[in-house]
Amino acid sequence: MKFPIYLDSQSTTPVDPRVLDEMMPYFTERFGNAASIDHSYGSQASEAVDKARKQVARCLNAHPEDIIFTSGATESNNIAILGISLRDSTKNHIITCVTEHKSVLDTCKHLETMGKQVTYVPVDKFGSVDLDTLERSISEKTLLISIMVANNEIGTIAPIEEIGKIARKHGVLFHTDAAQAAGHVPLDVEKMNVDLLSVSAHKMYGPKGVGALYIRQHYPAAKPFPLVYGGGHEQGIRSGTLNVASIVGLGRAFEIADREMQDEKNRYEKWTKYMLNIFHDEAYPVEQNGHPKNRLAHNLNVSFEQVENKALIHTVREKLAISSGSACTTLNVEPSHVILSLGFGQVRAHTAIRLGIGRFNTEEEIEFAAHFIVRAVSRLRRIRLDNLKNLSSIS
Ligand code: PMP
Repeated sequence: MKFPIYLDSQSTTPVDPRVLDEMMPYFTERFGNAASIDHSYGSQASEAVDKARKQVARCLNAHPEDIIFTSGATESNNIAILGISLRDSTKNHIITCVTEHKSVLDTCKHLETMGKQVTYVPVDKFGSVDLDTLERSISEKTLLISIMVANNEIGTIAPIEEIGKIARKHGVLFHTDAAQAAGHVPLDVEKMNVDLLSVSAHKMYGPKGVGALYIRQHYPAAKPFPLVYGGGHEQGIRSGTLNVASIVGLGRAFEIADREMQDEKNRYEKWTKYMLNIFHDEAYPVEQNGHPKNRLAHNLNVSFEQVENKALIHTVREKLAISSGSACTTLNVEPSHVILSLGFGQVRAHTAIRLGIGRFNTEEEIEFAAHFIVRAVSRLRRIRLDNLKNLSSIS
């Protein structure tokens, strides 16, 4: 076994060697600019981008012309939310959810400073969005609903099809952040009634710094205003020379995931169940955060009673790479906004750890990790008890 064992796949994934192989020629001999198609270098690059666009579209059941390439899900979310708001000044209301990623929440907060109104719909104790509240929040001023497919910290999967139906019924546009779901659960923009959908390559064994935004073009109102102006690339919505090698990687990553997703899901479900059983049997009390069934198979988020998450992560650090939640906010000492939204209070948030299983983990690694965590939890609880005893003997 190679240490530390990587168990932080919701933060990022390694590039699959099959993806890297496909990308490599586009750094060197096929280096052309996809917009300079007067010669073979450019047309080769342009054909590679077209192929990737088709690969992404096929996995989302979308038309290739409805896919634009971006630098990742943060940018896709910004284009979707800001770009749609800029486009339509007659409607000033957006609905989102309290457990969204910061790239959605902070974009909405920015819009509030510009005079837009935002409703942040609450979630229940499993992190599921309350559909009644969501529907009741819609008014004639509502322009857009933005609700993620799967949560990056607790793995809860939202009832996207139902939200899509609600949005359609009221004539409101629907954007979904599918950064954590793409490549892991089947996505179908038609079935889901989605108008805009964000994905990121580095959550699905592609490179960092590339993603895509699906934009329903045959529904003209779904076309956002650009945030970056320039050469008119990507239908004028996202100017800038295309990152051809990474786009090729994104396409290949989608193609592989589409084929292997179901086998991976079966494997991950078995492993998360195994870990949860070990935790219950040998490190009780422990609580699972997120929905027990409607969830990403490769995510496990648990709170061990009396064990502070940062202490546990530090204790296992030599052997295991695990985290407390969203990588984008781990430098922040504030407890997770996602776990707090579940309504269990501060302690639950300060004890939550996230285990993200990935394509290259083995059964041996999972078994090792489960037992190693149990031992660390026992040690930390013992130290805590000893400290409490020492304190009481002093006073
Ligand atoms: N949305 C979600 C749900 C995510 O998990 C992430 C990555 N942490 C992002 C958006 C941002 O993606 P990117 O890193 O591609 O900008």
